Amino acid sequence: MSGNINIRRDVQDSFYRYKMPRIQSKIEGKGNGIKTVIPNLSDVARSLERPPMHVTKWFGFELGAQTSMNADTDRYIVNGAHDASKLQDSLDGFINRFVLCGACKNPETELVIQKDGKNITRDCKACGKQTKLDMKHKLSGVILKNPPEKKKSKSKSSEKVDKKDKKEKKSKKSKKESSEDDEEDGDLDAGSDDEFTKRLVAEAAALPPVGEVADTGDWSVDTSEAAMAKRVAELEAGIGKSTLIDNDEEEDEDDSDNPYAQLASWIEEQDESPSDVDLFKKIKELGIDTKHRTLQVLGVCLFDENILKELEARAPLLTKLIGDSEKHQKAFLGGIEQLIASHEKLMAGVPKILLEIYQNDLIEEEVLQAWGAKASKKYVEKDVSKKIRKAAQPFLAWLEEADDDSEEESDEEDDE
Ligand SMILES: [Zn+2]
Repeated sequence: MSGNINIRRDVQDSFYRYKMPRIQSKIEGKGNGIKTVIPNLSDVARSLERPPMHVTKWFGFELGAQTSMNADTDRYIVNGAHDASKLQDSLDGFINRFVLCGACKNPETELVIQKDGKNITRDCKACGKQTKLDMKHKLSGVILKNPPEKKKSKSKSSEKVDKKDKKEKKSKKSKKESSEDDEEDGDLDAGSDDEFTKRLVAEAAALPPVGEVADTGDWSVDTSEAAMAKRVAELEAGIGKSTLIDNDEEEDEDDSDNPYAQLASWIEEQDESPSDVDLFKKIKELGIDTKHRTLQVLGVCLFDENILKELEARAPLLTKLIGDSEKHQKAFLGGIEQLIASHEKLMAGVPKILLEIYQNDLIEEEVLQAWGAKASKKYVEKDVSKKIRKAAQPFLAWLEEADDDSEEESDEEDDE
């Protein structure tokens, strides 16, 4: 069941000229760490003339799963177990909504971001019409942030996919970083993952190598002035510096000149959300790089309503700071509680936030379970704490179920 198929699977004509490789799926790992590698994702994306990132992100949104990608190693991963036919079915949705012309259903379209910066059209080469994308779909937001590169003249006339050309492109892709074609999409504001990794390793030698770094492109925080102003206002209003100091007996700090408050202020003051490297430097400078309370400050100050995306981006740094310490993990959850308390909108997203935290290996299962089992007034009002845990129930139930599942799995192996 491999080989090429029609891009429009509803077209039975074997002479239909728009083909793509049948998507492949390779399931790796087990239990909670189970994931699906899509070995030919970049080939499929290329056939659709879309960046691999857009396709990967589509799967993430549609399948409700975490994704990760590394263009350099050509690894595209969707967490959870998804077989090829499920992916293929899901891909039809992507093709319908983000590839095919809305008027004539021809797949030769180019995504064009409109001058208003808010809308995207599919410009059809076959009929010339421009049809709008559904901007309510989350992927549209991702595309706005990570637009496909402008077509170069060489690929303009690609009526069908030229395999040889593809291979050449692939092997030459590292030739010029700046003019990379469709491999390295979307790293608008930060350079490639690879550069990011290098920078981290070089500038903050203590940080671990990032390996399969979380997706490209998405890890910019909304740093518009309005967003920052809002964040500062929120901090001042509800969760001001004073609440950043908990009453932990062990580490009583003098409120004046408190390094945690300083860190919070420093984060607020930045014109742009600080890079991991700068942030780490600052934390070290304040001498709190091993302190659990640092994680509380980061939990509450570093994120906003885009926390799902931001978490993934910050995962390497947070992992470094949390280490294996349960105390640090709890403090981070405390900061997240404070964040949620100050963003009403986030309450509904609690299960997703926790899932993201869990899937980025920031907090261990046991710590999450213990946290979920008991409300506490340590970080937020007791009733808010209860509310957050109530909102977390779907996640906590899932966690328990996943636990049971992995046990069952090994039982079954024994039986058979
Ligand atoms: Zn058309």
